[in-house]
Amino acid sequence: MLDPATGDVIATVADGSEADAVAAVDAAAEAAAAWAATPPRVRGEHLRRAFELMSARADELARLISLENGKALVDAKGEVTYAAEFFRWFAEEAVRGEGIVNTAPSGANRILVVRQPVGVCVLVTPWNFPAAMATRKIGPALAAGCTVVLKPASDTPLTALAMAAILAEAGVPAGVVNVLPSRSSGKVVSKMLADPRVRKVSFTGSTEVGRILLAQAAENVINTSMELGGNAPFLVFADADLDAALDGAMIAKMRNGGEACTAANRFYVEASVADEFSRRLAERMAGLRVGPGTDANTQVGPLVNEDTVAKVDSLVRDAVTAGATAVTGGTRPDGPGFYYPPTVLTGIAGDAPILKEEIFGPVAPIVTFTSEDEAVRYANDTEFGLVAYVFTQDLARGLRVSEAIEAGMVGLNRGLVSDPAAPFGGVKQSGIGREGGHEGLLEYLESKYIAVNW
Ligand code: NAP
Repeated sequence: MLDPATGDVIATVADGSEADAVAAVDAAAEAAAAWAATPPRVRGEHLRRAFELMSARADELARLISLENGKALVDAKGEVTYAAEFFRWFAEEAVRGEGIVNTAPSGANRILVVRQPVGVCVLVTPWNFPAAMATRKIGPALAAGCTVVLKPASDTPLTALAMAAILAEAGVPAGVVNVLPSRSSGKVVSKMLADPRVRKVSFTGSTEVGRILLAQAAENVINTSMELGGNAPFLVFADADLDAALDGAMIAKMRNGGEACTAANRFYVEASVADEFSRRLAERMAGLRVGPGTDANTQVGPLVNEDTVAKVDSLVRDAVTAGATAVTGGTRPDGPGFYYPPTVLTGIAGDAPILKEEIFGPVAPIVTFTSEDEAVRYANDTEFGLVAYVFTQDLARGLRVSEAIEAGMVGLNRGLVSDPAAPFGGVKQSGIGREGGHEGLLEYLESKYIAVNW
């Protein structure tokens, strides 16, 4: 485990093998029947207790996240609050696995639908939100009565292990939550997905790995939930409140230092306000304090690892070579750590390569548009469809454009959509299924239909 601020080793962690993966599934399978039979209220109370423990230890957990992931403490604290809220929300949802009773249209019988836990679930999470991506899966799985094996990202296993300890302390019985850190992610996950006792895989990460897991899940026809990559467009119309659009841009772009699937990846600004928006965004970006994530004054920490910073650097260099202007930032600093400065690029062509890929760093490329149709066409010119941001004071336009954009979520005059009480997820190659809200619980329940005569 490396500290992203220095590149130094901060901890060594057990490296789970395929045999460990089998042992983890053994434990989850053994615990499954008793957990499914535990009253929903009791399951909910364990989650509620986990929420309280996380909240009480927020500072300690935030420091751990910041240490292993590199993000600024302010972002890490935000993540702990967000992550803990999934336990609170699903503590409340645990008692809401309602079914249906209906009379068949023919009148011949009743239709009874009961919800039952899917069974043993394999959860695979990324490094960018090491706590929240775990609680967003563990919360609904436990609420529904499922047992789980969580395989955290190799770069951030410490937070996942801390979550498991908190759940144990909250009274969750042994075997219900198992954490399997491993550098051999492909091997251990494949091993588990091939095990007939595993009934679901819930994955958050890149579309590339999501495709591999979907193919593996097809072998045993297991239930899948996929939260994959994003390429969020951020649309600013000339009739927008520019102050609000700038505030929204700073959150949508810079939350988590740009390392978020929801990060605004492409800015489309109506030509008449583009100069002012670009100038003011560059001023705000240039004013951010960059430094070690664990320093309380830092607003932007280092990126998570060398590969990520090298990729961001090459995307920016290519854009500048193709004619873009770095209004602020644009040059990787010398010295240790995986730092990249907040950067604003103007003069980007509508078909530039930087608009096709997830940047996953603090870089805002700006393209101009001249009509609503053109803005929507640009927004939809991607195989991804996670989230989009739209800024306009014309409500009719805001709703029209929100409906026309191919995305699972839209922030309308808002730069932040994530909320445990709302269904989070994407369309197109950004994923399948939803996390959070009531939908999040349903992902871990099967509907059993019983045709009844009574
Ligand atoms: P990633 O490379 O896809 O890795 C995600 C997880 O999958 C990690 O635990 C990783 O383990 C594991 N993994 C990698 N290869 C695997 C394989 N062949 N079989 C099984 N598991 C495998 O993604 P990342 O770089 O960690 O995260 C960034 C991506 O996540 C971005 O694309 C981002 O948009 C997406 N994301 C999406 C959401 C959402 O809700 N839609 C939220 C957050 C992030 P290792 O760490 O060992 O490689």
